[in-house]
Order: sequence, then structure tokens, then C-alpha cells
Amino acid sequence: MVFLFLLMEKVLEISNLTKKYKNLTAVNDLNLSVEKGNIYGLLGPNGSGKSTTLGVILNVVNATAGSWKWFNEEPTTDSLKRIGAIIERPNFYPYLSAEKNLQIVAKIKGVSPTKIDEKLALVGLIERKNDKFSTFSLGMKQRLAIAAALLNDPEVLILDEPTNGLDPQGIIQIRELIMKIAELGTTIILASHLLDEVEKVCSHVIILERGKTLYSGKVDEMTSDFGYVEIGAKNEHQLKEMLETVPYFEKIVFEKTYYKAFLKEDVAAEAINQLLFEKGIVLNHLVKKKESLEQQFLELTKKQYSK
Ligand code: ADP
Repeated sequence: MVFLFLLMEKVLEISNLTKKYKNLTAVNDLNLSVEKGNIYGLLGPNGSGKSTTLGVILNVVNATAGSWKWFNEEPTTDSLKRIGAIIERPNFYPYLSAEKNLQIVAKIKGVSPTKIDEKLALVGLIERKNDKFSTFSLGMKQRLAIAAALLNDPEVLILDEPTNGLDPQGIIQIRELIMKIAELGTTIILASHLLDEVEKVCSHVIILERGKTLYSGKVDEMTSDFGYVEIGAKNEHQLKEMLETVPYFEKIVFEKTYYKAFLKEDVAAEAINQLLFEKGIVLNHLVKKKESLEQQFLELTKKQYSK
């Protein structure tokens, strides 16, 4: 029971948050509930309001309307001490070593320097600790920034576009690191314009488009809600006629050698196979596919633009 309660612990609650810059509404009536131990993706194209949202909850941007609570309390400077954030490009002293730079951060944050080695090891930079910051790749600089943000063992880590500008290897390292940090119990809020990133890294997603929420929920549920089936048979014409009579298909599209039949509800491949067999059709191709978050994201964005 106690364990269940801990699992559902609320870290952040945003209610009806709006931020306007003159005539432009950067964030429009945003609601978000962040529970401990998960990785939340704030997903949206550039300009959709991700950084503004992070700025507000970190007290660097003033909200126009709405409220938010950190750890079930009104936000104070004390609650901010429980949060680590990287919302800008990492900036350290170029001619000082990784370790020296972290010693300075520890001093500013008022935390003991004893954690420095532990955090450098976590981000994979322990062997480079005596090397100057200026010799680091962008990915290493970003990992050092994460080590700095983790020095005081924050309960929440906030990252704004953490893989921007990195090469593929650097991107993989950062994504793996984010998942490792989450496994150690830190809640993560990550802003990204990359669908693929959110799909790979996050457990929850909130999709923003011009400040408005288009979808909010679990990444899993989003990918499993919809789907389609690839169906092929020798007699394509007969197959198509039959598919059109099946009530749980909403749209049928021909693709190369088979049909793509989009499902209105969750139906197992076996049930489809059996139904068609009973109607005299022997299939030579049957594959159930889940629509990716990317396709749904594009659908949602398209709808928003056509309004
Ligand atoms: P994202 O992080 O998703 O790229 P932002 O939160 O940076 O989006 O921006 C949301 C919208 O608010 C954009 O249209 C942007 O131009 C505008 N905006 C952001 N900051 C300011 C500012 N200081 N003054 C005026 N407009 C701003």
C-alpha cells in the first residue's frame, strides 16, 4: 500500500497555465500532472511553447494566468533546490578541467564536492576529469552539464532539447544516460521537437502545437490506441469487396501487393484471419501494425493547421 502511494507521488502539477507575449499566446491553458519516477516528454515543433513552459515552472518567465505546484506545494526557492535544470547550452570555464568546473558549481550550489567523482562516473567522464572543458566534444559538454545539474541529487531533472546539435553517437549516449538517471529514481521532464526521441526515451508525452495541448498521456497508450492490418490475398478484387463489409475497418488503402485496413477498434489478427476464411478468402499476407507516435503526431498537427 505504501509502495503504491509512493509510485503515485505527484512531483509537479500545472493548472491552466497561459503565457502571452503581447498578442502572441505562447502557452495556452496548459494542464499537466507529473508523477514521480517517469520521463515526461514535452513534444512540439519549434515555437510551440516548450521552453516558455519550462521557463515558467523554473521561475524565469512570468506566467500570464494559471498556477503550478512543485511537490504539492506553492513554488518557493526551496522547491527549486530540489530540481536540476539545463535549459541553455552548457557554459563552463573553457581552460579549467571538468573536475575544477564542477568544484565551482558545487561551491555556488552550496553542496559538498564529494559527489563530483560519482556524477562524473555516472555521465561517463571520470577518465576525462582532468581534461580542459575546451577539449570536450559537444556531447561531452552536455554530459558535464548533466553531471553539474545532478550534483545536489535533485528529485527532478529538466532538459530542453538535450540532443540538439549532437552527432548520432552523442545522441545515443545522452538518451541512454537520461534513461539511466530515470532508473535511479529521478523524474525527468524533457522538451524535444523530435518524435523519435520522445518515443524512445519517454514514458509519458504531452504534445504541444502553438501553445495548445494536442495530446497528453502515456507513450505506450498512444502507440497502441490505433493500428492497421496489412492484408493480402491472391484475388485482390474479391478481398477488397469483402474488407469493405467488415464493420471494424474504417479505411482501406491499397499498397503495392496488399491492403492496409485501418482498425476502428482493437481486433486480433487471428479473428480477422478467421472471419475472412469463413467468407472464403485465404490470405497470403496478414500483419498487424501499430501506428507510430510519429504518424499520429503528424495527423494531430495536420488537423490543427486545417482548423
Ligand atoms: P519552443 O520551445 O517550443 O520552441 P518557445 O516557448 O521558445 O517554443 O516559444 C513559443 C512562442 O513564444 C514562439 O512563437 C516564440 O517566438 C514566442 N516567444 C518566446 N519567447 C518570447 C519573448 N521573450 N518575447 C516574445 N515572444 C517570445
